[in-house]
Amino acid sequence: MAGLIHRAWRNSFPHGIHPPGNKFTNRLPIKRLPFADELIIPLSQHIGAPAEPIVHRGQEVVRGEPIAKASGFVSVPMHSPVTGVIAGIELTPTAKGPKTKSIIVRPHPGAGQKVLYGAPQDYSRLDRNELITAVQDTGIVGLGGAAFPLHVKLATPPGTIIDTVIANGCECEPFLTADHRLMIEHADEIISGIQLVMKLSGAKQAIIGLENNKGDAFHAIKMRLPDKSPISARLLETKYPQGSEKMLITTLTGREVPSGGFPYQVGVIVHNVATLAQLGTLMPLRRGLIERVVTVTGPGVKKPGNYLTPLGTPIRQLLDYVGFSGTANHLILGGPMMGSSVASLDVPVTKAVGGIIVLAEERKIDEHPKNADPCIKCGRCLQACPLKLNPSQLGLLAAKRQYQAMEEEFHLNDCFECGCCSYVCPSSIPLVQYFRIAKAINREQLITA
Ligand code: SF4
Ligand code: SF4
Repeated sequence: MAGLIHRAWRNSFPHGIHPPGNKFTNRLPIKRLPFADELIIPLSQHIGAPAEPIVHRGQEVVRGEPIAKASGFVSVPMHSPVTGVIAGIELTPTAKGPKTKSIIVRPHPGAGQKVLYGAPQDYSRLDRNELITAVQDTGIVGLGGAAFPLHVKLATPPGTIIDTVIANGCECEPFLTADHRLMIEHADEIISGIQLVMKLSGAKQAIIGLENNKGDAFHAIKMRLPDKSPISARLLETKYPQGSEKMLITTLTGREVPSGGFPYQVGVIVHNVATLAQLGTLMPLRRGLIERVVTVTGPGVKKPGNYLTPLGTPIRQLLDYVGFSGTANHLILGGPMMGSSVASLDVPVTKAVGGIIVLAEERKIDEHPKNADPCIKCGRCLQACPLKLNPSQLGLLAAKRQYQAMEEEFHLNDCFECGCCSYVCPSSIPLVQYFRIAKAINREQLITA
């Protein structure tokens, strides 16, 4: 970590934007969703190799039982969210469109919520490698949307020194409130998860970062922290994208992750509070991930809320439950800034889905505006970009299809597609869509080169 600038922490990062929060569900307690008629468990709902089925059609399974095993280190197992029977292993649609292999579980009539698989374990006796294997066995991935296997993120390279664990409770995307409610209702589990990550990483301190529109969650956490705890909580400015990993590290520690680098290179490891809550819940009981909290909100839904949803629940049935009768074009999966459209209502809730926004009217969020005007060189996108990139210049190069130059001269790959530049552009230039396309083309050329 030589050469790092250690400044006092601040309550924000340079640039960024202030979109309306629209956190309509932040006072609604987490509510459990009933089981759907069938649960669809895709074998690939994380970054890495798909899991391999270990069950067969017609087999009886209990709630929490492993039904697919990890197929390598960068892979995680899947567990049955319900007691029932394996109805099939077949191709099913995904949110992005192409089909993927999934295990279908049909619940037994009257199947209960009690988890019937797992056994208490004293993980304080496990060494580092055993702990990482135990984390992999839970099937937990980054629940903030990245879906990167948690155990891989915890297995930092040998010789790495981590001094600070950051728990990301910012939830800076408008509309979403699942993490907010978790911090109020499950602070103890989050703290247990943080303690486990501190043990694994050797970090001497942890900081929970929240935006200052979550004062009630801040107090709930402070109440649960003992005096002189190495874990602290800090309220940060409500600003998008406060919750992005690099921004949060800069805000809380003053350190800057190098271009193309990783947080561990500056002595930090960052995990979302939803991920930590699951870690703190599942590890002591040696259980697997079978459900998650999903915010369902927006003008097109009658019963908005934060729903504890069995993984594999078809979005159609979740939306039936909350009073919706539209099409997939009404939906945004995730937040409005970085979320994606949904190809079909028959796709299931997977580990990466933390929110569904239901619009009043049909709209495709990735539709190119037909009335984009030329760039007027106003510079607003430069003022908004949290990474101090030059979106205007990147946009001009994208329009000329000079994708290589975008990377070589203007660091396209550093762009994490936060959408701030598109949001502020008075000419409605779909900058972030241009950047996604450019990155995809560059990636393809690298593969075929
Ligand atoms: S989408 Fe990329 S270029 Fe635009 S503001 Fe975000 S990081 Fe910067
Ligand atoms: S905000 Fe839009 S119009 Fe203004 S400089 Fe950036 S790309 Fe050009």
